[in-house]
Amino acid sequence: MADDYDAIVVGAGPAGVSAALTMARAGLKVALLERGEYPGAKNVQGAVLYSRMLHELVPDFWKDPEAAIERPVVEQKTCVTTEDSWLTFGYKSLKFLEGVPNCYTIIRVKFDRWYAAKAEAAGAELFCGVTVRDALKENGRIVGIKTSDGDELKASVVVACDGVNSLLAQKAGFIDELKPSEVALGAKEVIALEPGVIEDRFQLNPGEGATMELFGSITLGMLGYAFLYTNKETLSLGVGCKLSDYQRKGLRPADHLELIKKHPYVKKLISGGRTLEYSSHLIPEGGYRSMPPLAADGFLVAGDAAQMSNPAYREGSNLAMTAGRLAGETVVAAKKQGDFSKAALSSYVAALRSSYVLSDMEDVQDLERHVESSPDFLEFYPRLACELAHLRFSADGQPKRRHLKQALALLRRRGLLRVARELFPLRKVAV
Ligand SMILES: Cc1cc2nc3c(=O)[nH]c(=O)nc-3n(C[C@H](O)[C@H](O)[C@H](O)COP(=O)(O)OP(=O)(O)OC[C@H]3O[C@@H](n4cnc5c(N)ncnc54)[C@H](O)[C@@H]3O)c2cc1C
Repeated sequence: MADDYDAIVVGAGPAGVSAALTMARAGLKVALLERGEYPGAKNVQGAVLYSRMLHELVPDFWKDPEAAIERPVVEQKTCVTTEDSWLTFGYKSLKFLEGVPNCYTIIRVKFDRWYAAKAEAAGAELFCGVTVRDALKENGRIVGIKTSDGDELKASVVVACDGVNSLLAQKAGFIDELKPSEVALGAKEVIALEPGVIEDRFQLNPGEGATMELFGSITLGMLGYAFLYTNKETLSLGVGCKLSDYQRKGLRPADHLELIKKHPYVKKLISGGRTLEYSSHLIPEGGYRSMPPLAADGFLVAGDAAQMSNPAYREGSNLAMTAGRLAGETVVAAKKQGDFSKAALSSYVAALRSSYVLSDMEDVQDLERHVESSPDFLEFYPRLACELAHLRFSADGQPKRRHLKQALALLRRRGLLRVARELFPLRKVAV
């Protein structure tokens, strides 16, 4: 029987739409299947969107008055907390707005609809409310999909972009269901505030945006961080920590978020705001080592479905877009050759390897394990940073050389060698 499509893309998130758009533009017959009522209906992200990867697919998208973007980010801050102190450092630059602006805040429910419409305009056929539940196989190769309604659809290639805990990658035998230690659980609230209030509180010019990540006491010793991002008329306040840590603590992310809202620093920034919505979603954390094979006969995997996520840099949607585009380009080349074998489709893996995607994932692969293997790392260092800052900024009548002695004593208590051993691996996320 002839194939229904050249390619079936499962999932209309950043990876799936990027793949579908790339293939449709090259004239391929593409079906884009999305289980949500519309793209973005079920998707959650902080959300910071890195422009360059989208610009490669939709040039100058920020000039489109319809583009579903919130604010261009001019300042990125980090805040290290204890219960009663916090140390903030950030970088603000108008250079972030030059050329291709570095990043925008977005709201996925709006963004995904806008982005999927670009793929449709290029000729991809978008089917919403369709849940794919299995891969169709013939002689060991994947030749299509089965939906939960029992419909079957055939194609030369299936591109799995169905997000974290990908059912399709599981059905293809590429991954097992993810363990709680391989995922983080992210929870987020969207809080309404007047644009002028947002700009005053974050010291922004009208229309500009800022991001902030919070580490330390705020995560209650769990591996993860909280975030606060400025949208046009709302703030996105959220937190993501290892699911296994939440289970160990017996804490629900919604309750964690309530505690975060009470921290004096956060409380002031969100005061007077009205919560419009709450959502939660998993984030892949297994890293480079737990990535599935990325190509098989008639099959490619991209984005969160392939665990492509770099939380140390707050990146995921950009990796998904680049991987989706490269998967699309690989299928276009395979169509020209008339060869959809694993060998032909493996050029996708080579392309990912030459891009930032796999090298970045490789570089951060040991960081989480390193932090988790150092007892109380996540309590000790934020507290140390605040104590050192306290000494630095106190005029308490003591000679400054005594401050220096006290500071060294704090480090000696942990052991200078141990501090060096614990902090040295973090150089990988210094730039
Ligand atoms: C709280 C939180 C904050 C984040 N913040 C950031 C950030 O600031 N910046 C950043 O770059 N990344 C961030 N991320 C990560 C980012 O959201 C993901 O990396 C990105 O969404 C991955 O895109 P994707 O297309 O691979 O998967 P998804 O966006 O998850 O899209 C998958 C799509 O597949 C559909 N689908 C799933 N199963 C099926 C099925 N069986 N049949 C049909 N359709 C299906 C889903 O409905 C969905 O539309 C964050 C994630 C979370 C949870």
